[in-house]
Formats: sequence, structure tokens, C-alpha cells
Amino acid sequence: MSCASGALYVIGLGPGDDALLTGEARAALDACTDLFGYSAYVDRVPPRAGQVRHGSDNREELARARAALALAASGGRVGIVSGGDPGVFAMASAVFEAIEAGEPVWRNLEVTVVPGVSAMFAAAARLGAPLGHDFAVVSLSDNLKPWPLILRRLEAAAKAGFVLALYNPVSRARPWQLGASLDCLRAVLPPETPVVFATAVSRPDERLEIVALAQADSAGADMRTLVLVGSAETRRLARGKGMRDWVYTPRGSAAA
Ligand code: SAH
Repeated sequence: MSCASGALYVIGLGPGDDALLTGEARAALDACTDLFGYSAYVDRVPPRAGQVRHGSDNREELARARAALALAASGGRVGIVSGGDPGVFAMASAVFEAIEAGEPVWRNLEVTVVPGVSAMFAAAARLGAPLGHDFAVVSLSDNLKPWPLILRRLEAAAKAGFVLALYNPVSRARPWQLGASLDCLRAVLPPETPVVFATAVSRPDERLEIVALAQADSAGADMRTLVLVGSAETRRLARGKGMRDWVYTPRGSAAA
């Protein structure tokens, strides 16, 4: 098998604020001849002289990965960008799926996955330490998996005492899934369990809402919201007037 000369960088852009773009991601963006990604993410990257930008629709992940791999195999230094971390419901898996099913020579490419600050970490940092003990991460999108599987996983994780970080809670095509998920969790967790709707974290229109599970309403979320659901051990600490409460999960668990 011949050795391909190009390189592919799978780059995490973080949650939005430029200050949360890592130095490694910035250096990778500087090194690329071509940039691929969902247009909204490519648009976040300041243009660099001579760099070609290939923005595409959100749903074209595998086609985008194949196009980027083909260009890298022909000698380009190609970047594929994702919001947050590229390994969390994003392009890194699509790239490896494309490699496994694709041209044998793609396996010899230099592929560098550059981590980013995932939305759950940016949101958790704003609130205190809700992810300070064991937690589970679930995408509520049933585009790539059946809905009953999502409900089974939510119920099992909540029953097992995991804090939950829920990605992709709502979209135009998926208006009811978050409400159904909250109903499922209400059947398992105490009514006072803290729920956080963290929207557009680190962007100018950032919004953070803390409510009890009994009152949690899916209207508080949109496509840019990360939902955190505490465990029975997660604490909400009231603070002075006008100050946002803290939410944290203690490091130790008393449950046997
Ligand atoms: N790879 C990304 C997640 C992609 S899935 C990451 O690691 O963050 C897209 C989902 O991520 C959105 O529906 C939302 O749930 C979450 N998300 C992305 N950016 C966000 C932000 N700035 N604030 C809150 N949630 C965000």
C-alpha cells in the first residue's frame, strides 16, 4: 500500500467564544490549505489568506468526511471543523466511519484529532461543578438511533445515579423529544432534582436557567441548548440577591 502525503486535522472549535479555542486548534487552523464543515462552524473561523473553505449542510457528515479524505489523500492539508469537541456527537466518528468503508490508502493518512471544549464542560463551568461525580452523556436526536433506545438509556442512567448531559435536545424536526425525556426522568428522580438549560454558552446571547425537575419545561430549550439533569445527590446553593445559584455534585456518593 502506498503512503499518502497529505494530512487531515479534525478540529474542535469549542462552544463559541474565541477565548475557548485551544492553541492547538488555532495552530491546526493556520496549517490547513482547505477547511470543511457545517457552514455555521466554518463561518466561525476567521478567514486565512489562501485557505479554501468548503461549507456544507449539517446533514452531510459522511459525504463531507469523504470529500475531505480524498483531498487529503491527494496531498492537501485539510481541516474538518466541529463545534465543541470533534469526538462528541460530531465529525471525528464520521471521519473514521468513512475511512473504514473507504479507499485503502486513506488508512495511511496522517489524521490528527484536535480536542475542543465541549458544550457540557463550558456549561458546567458556568454553574459550579454539576459534573463533579459520575455522569452520562446522551444525544436526544433520534436521527441516528431509535427513540425507544434513547428512553431506555435515559431511564437506566438516571436509575444508576448518573448526572445527565443531554445534547441535541430540540430541533425543528424533533419538537417533542425533550418533553418526553423529562417525563421519563420525572418517573425515576426526585421532583426537586436540579435541571439546567444552558443555551448558547460563551456566546453573546448566553442564557442559563436552573429549575426543579418537577417544573422543567421543554420550552426552555432550543437547538443551542445543553440540558443538565442532576442526580439525587446534586446540590443547588442559593446565593445573594441577583446572583445565580451554584449547582454542584459532591465528589463522594453515599449510595450503596
Ligand atoms: N461537538 C459538540 C456537540 C455537537 S451536537 C460539543 O462537543 O459541544 C450539537 C449540540 O451541542 C447542540 O444541540 C447543543 O445541545 C450543544 N451545544 C453546542 N454548542 C453549545 C453552546 N455554546 N451552548 C450550549 N449547548 C451547545
